[in-house]
Amino acid sequence: MSTWKDSADVVIIGGGIMGAATAYHLARRGCTGVVIVEKDLLAQASTGLSAGGIRQQFSHPSNIRLSQEAVRVFERFKEEFDTDMEFRQVGYLFLAQSDDVWQEFLANVEIQRQLNVPVDVLSPDEIKRRWPYLNVEDLRGGTFGPEDGYADPYMAAMGFANAARRLGVRIDEQTKVTAIRQEGGKILGVETTGGPISAPVVVNVAGPWGGEVAHMAGLDLPVKPYRRQVFVTQAFERIPKPVPMILDIEPAFYFRGEGPGVLMGMSDPDEPSSFHTNFDYGFMEKLIEAAIHRAPILEEAEISRGWGGLYAITPDDNPIIGPLPNAEGLFCAIGFSGHGFQQSPTVGRVLSELILDGETDFDLSPYAHDRFDQTTGKSETRVV
Ligand SMILES: Cc1cc2nc3c(=O)[nH]c(=O)nc-3n(C[C@H](O)[C@H](O)[C@H](O)COP(=O)(O)OP(=O)(O)OC[C@H]3O[C@@H](n4cnc5c(N)ncnc54)[C@H](O)[C@@H]3O)c2cc1C
Repeated sequence: MSTWKDSADVVIIGGGIMGAATAYHLARRGCTGVVIVEKDLLAQASTGLSAGGIRQQFSHPSNIRLSQEAVRVFERFKEEFDTDMEFRQVGYLFLAQSDDVWQEFLANVEIQRQLNVPVDVLSPDEIKRRWPYLNVEDLRGGTFGPEDGYADPYMAAMGFANAARRLGVRIDEQTKVTAIRQEGGKILGVETTGGPISAPVVVNVAGPWGGEVAHMAGLDLPVKPYRRQVFVTQAFERIPKPVPMILDIEPAFYFRGEGPGVLMGMSDPDEPSSFHTNFDYGFMEKLIEAAIHRAPILEEAEISRGWGGLYAITPDDNPIIGPLPNAEGLFCAIGFSGHGFQQSPTVGRVLSELILDGETDFDLSPYAHDRFDQTTGKSETRVV
């Protein structure tokens, strides 16, 4: 049993970009008794290890809306946060090989255009004309979002965190939340390695550890960690810059420009759930094969470094966002697969409204914690 020496209005568990964006939105609305508790250092987990892709080309309308609002924030990020998150709006190209996937792409484009997302439908010849280094022989076509691109997720998180700090938010780094305390259906606060903090509101934005943190509140949420690996080449001038984010959806391979080199990633369907982030040379061979198939010139590139990070994945590839049952005052935003960085500005805004106003204009029903009993299969098909 602990005695409360420290108190807050809101405790945010996790100092990744979700935590930083949520703290910022709470503080700019005047809620300054906010403490972010981060077990390591800010933005060093999934956020700092992300590939930084930003796109509005999703299949689920709610995901399109989350990213659409975020793109507007990223466009004015430098002015608003006095931080250059290096948003490069050089486009995002999706490639389809099979008829089935191509038909899915075309159906997605309908939804995207209804929501005013600019997206071009390209034939293999048009793709070859614009990006001559791509092998288009086995392609049915592609879709290109000219407003999309990529950015530096670490700088974006630090932009939100520094703005939150300036508004009075406290950030306790190297402090782990070890328990969530509740009584009579209400949240009381958290126990941490730095001592207990009483608070009527606790937010679980613990990324890949979101399932573990939910357990602390007696909840079993289907969010699991999976390793994802990224590799960067040495300076490579054979591919003209800028290189957009290029996503070869069927082998789940992607690449984009990264400084003078190229950044490449791929999802491994055989990867079991774990917290491992070690680098796997065997997998690098598979990735290189996919890379050379799509852009044969990459055979001449040298890999200079790579890393593993964690996705947080739910059964339908969509996140869980909103209030949680059992205890009033408990909220979460976890399970974002490979698109949490780009959706964080909107999620931070929406969570702050739920906490401060008890409601938000954003329809969160596709992200409800209890949807998994009723649905099966993937509700977002454009996930790598
Ligand atoms: C290789 C890779 C590529 C990706 N590419 C993209 C991309 O192109 N575009 C995109 O939008 N997204 C991408 N993502 C996904 C994106 O990185 C995540 O969805 C996003 O960063 C999630 O942010 P977060 O703040 O929820 O989680 P995190 O950044 O993981 O932050 C959670 C924090 O919680 C802390 N924490 C956990 N448990 C506790 C505890 N008990 N007490 C205190 N602190 C705790 C952790 O230390 C961590 O810092 C990628 C991810 C990876 C790994």
